[in-house]
Order: sequence, then structure tokens, then C-alpha cells
Amino acid sequence: MTTEAAVQAAIVTTWMRDVAEAVKAESGHLTQLDAAIGDGDHGVNMERGFSAVEKALAGQNAEVPPGRLLIVAGKTLVSTVGGASGPLWGVALRRAGRSLGDVESFDGEQLADALQAAIDGVVELGAAAPGDKTMVDALVPSVEALRRGLAAGEPLDRALASAADAAEEGARSTVPMQARKGRASYLGERSIGHQDPGATSSALIIRALERAVSQAS
Ligand SMILES: [Mg+2]
Repeated sequence: MTTEAAVQAAIVTTWMRDVAEAVKAESGHLTQLDAAIGDGDHGVNMERGFSAVEKALAGQNAEVPPGRLLIVAGKTLVSTVGGASGPLWGVALRRAGRSLGDVESFDGEQLADALQAAIDGVVELGAAAPGDKTMVDALVPSVEALRRGLAAGEPLDRALASAADAAEEGARSTVPMQARKGRASYLGERSIGHQDPGATSSALIIRALERAVSQAS
């Protein structure tokens, strides 16, 4: 195994550990957002799920490739989280992992492809389109920003900073939207004026990815 490969696998474990910390720190906020337009369990669900992921990855052999680690992470989420976020992030991380396959290291384009595969999985499972007030509204602009940055020749950490900014902006863009998918859609027009919790936690996850890659580079 090359040194580079070790760094790349470490990006996934660092990323997932950072997500566990971020959703724990923001758990109250996520729950508050979900209480407004859902059932108020999003903070607790994300916290429980990613803390289990952190533990599962800590138990992995150091030579397991990054794609495999993402598949383990996705399966762990599915088995530990009730509600929509477990299955959705579960499919997202499993698809991202399958997209990376067994490569020992990945470049920006491969990471962008993996994120796109994650989004495709979410869209397939949740049948949500941009504008439906879901996590898709944070993730789609995020991967677009990542690709724009890479196409402009930016280093990966810089392109990911733009991707994280776009995800946060995408999460904020859900405020005036009326929910068309998920539990919030039952509220109809009353869902307008609230930021979507799933889009909010998705932005936390992309920001954590930026930090993990920056630390490694
Ligand atoms: Mg909920």
C-alpha cells in the first residue's frame, strides 16, 4: 500500500468522525428545524447514526480502501437509523463507495463522480427533484460547484470549499420552498418559511468533507 493510499483511506475515516462531531454539535438545531416541519428526530437520528459509523470505521483494518469504508458507513447508517435520513444517507454513502470501487486513492474527478453517484441514489430512493425542499437542494449545487472548481483547475480542497459554500447556500434556499417530498410535504404551504433539516445536515456533511481533505493535503 502506498503512503498516498493510506492518506486517502484516512480521509474517509476523518470525514466520518468529523460528521459525527458536527451533527452532535448541531443536534439541537437539526431537531429544532425538524420539529418545525417534521417529527423532531433528525438531530438524534443523525447523531446516533454517525456515532455508530465512527465506531464501525475505527474497527476497520488500515488497508481497507476508501470505497469499502464508505460502503461500511452506509450499511451502518441503514442498520442504526430509523426515519428517512438513515436509508437516504445509507444509499448515498454505499453508492459513493461503489463508485470509488477498490481504488486505493482517488482524485477530484473520482470524488465528484462518487458524490454524483450518491445524489443519484438519493434521488432514486426519495424520488425528490431540486426544488422539493430536501437534501437534494443542498447536494446538487454542491457537486456542480465542485465540478466547476475542478474544471477551473482549482486544487481539490479549494473546490470543496466552494462545494460546501454551495451546499450551505442550497440549504438556505429551501426556506421559501414548499415541501413536496417527505413528512414536511403533509404541511403544504405551512412548510414555507422553514429551512429543511435534511438539506441542513447535508451541508454539514459536505463542509466536513472539505475539512477532512484540507487536513490531508
Ligand atoms: Mg424526522
